[in-house]
Amino acid sequence: MPTRAYATHSATTPLVPFSIERREPQARDVEIQIQYCGVCHSDLHYARNEWGFTSYPLVPGHEMLGRVTRVGKDVTRFAVGDLAAVGCLVDSCRTCPSCAQHLEQFCLNGPVFSYNGPDAHLGGMTFGGYSEKVVVDEAFTLRVPKNLDPARAAPLLCAGITTYSPLRKWGAGQGKKVGIVGLGGLGHMGVKFAHAFGAHTVLFTTSESKIADGRRLGADEVVISKDAEQMAAHAGSFDMILDTVSADHDLNALLGLLKLDATLVLVGAPPDPQPVRALNLLLPRRQLAGSLIGGIAETQEMLDFCGKHDVVCDIELIRMDQINEAYERMLKSDVKYRFVIDISTL
Ligand code: NAP
Ligand code: ZN
Ligand code: ZN
Repeated sequence: MPTRAYATHSATTPLVPFSIERREPQARDVEIQIQYCGVCHSDLHYARNEWGFTSYPLVPGHEMLGRVTRVGKDVTRFAVGDLAAVGCLVDSCRTCPSCAQHLEQFCLNGPVFSYNGPDAHLGGMTFGGYSEKVVVDEAFTLRVPKNLDPARAAPLLCAGITTYSPLRKWGAGQGKKVGIVGLGGLGHMGVKFAHAFGAHTVLFTTSESKIADGRRLGADEVVISKDAEQMAAHAGSFDMILDTVSADHDLNALLGLLKLDATLVLVGAPPDPQPVRALNLLLPRRQLAGSLIGGIAETQEMLDFCGKHDVVCDIELIRMDQINEAYERMLKSDVKYRFVIDISTL
């Protein structure tokens, strides 16, 4: 069925109105009328082909939330009218060792991402959430706790799970000193989760104007990462640092802040390589790691945690036609702290 959307047709042209095809719901599919879609920096990296593997036309958006409008005959967990959400994943092989461990994002046969992934139903590539509707297998559809504001919950589908998952895996909690680098969409959720898990939470920011917000969002301390003296005061003291930065920055300065056996986890994905000085890993023994979103079960666990503890994102609601301007502001680190598109304006 023809579906209205916003797409970009090349790395150098803006997003414009576009019509895409969505499949008719199959037996196990859920059709969702999208109400809100968050704007992730990955959308921008993809739109401008900064990682080098974008197919055009591209419809970005992987923080989708809305109402179920139709369900296939075998769908058991969703009914028409339910609030439902879709994140970065829409399918995987479901049988490989990664899928068996509920790590569909690392499916050995290739996870299918919500956009720019191979579409097994219609051919071509999948299209994301800058669109009025999406049709997804119920196995990849998430339930949204009713007490959460839907617009503020939408970015949990990527910014939320991408920070929740590594903070859980590397044990952020009581008695741990945890750093979050960058106060953008991911970073502000990292601060909220690290604080909610009971860790001593330190925000690293390049923006002096974000110090007060950092504290309000849950940071016990805020460090201006460009200030060598402030950085030196924390040398060798962290159990974990979660780095959400989207552009070139100094990993060595962050490695120097880790304790013995502590880990710097990258979730930010700057397009260019970031040099690492071996000595900063050797002495004392330190680790450098990466993490990618989270599996479907963990995403549901994160949403349920947010429902229970009333955790949502700080957002700026925009119209669909403000998306290109929003990208420019994101590049200037001028987001407080996630743009969310009101899809009714499409
Ligand atoms: P964002 O909202 O634009 O936030 C990025 C923040 O990084 C900025 O607000 C800024 O914070 C800081 N920053 C930007 N340029 C910097 C520089 N040159 N040096 C130091 N700090 C800088 O982006 P986002 O949506 O949170 O995404 C962040 C990154 O994560 C992107 O690369 C995105 O592709 C990636 N990502 C990865 C995953 C995953 O699964 N691993 C999932 C989603 C997104 P301050 O103003 O506080 O310094
Ligand atoms: Zn994302
Ligand atoms: Zn698999």
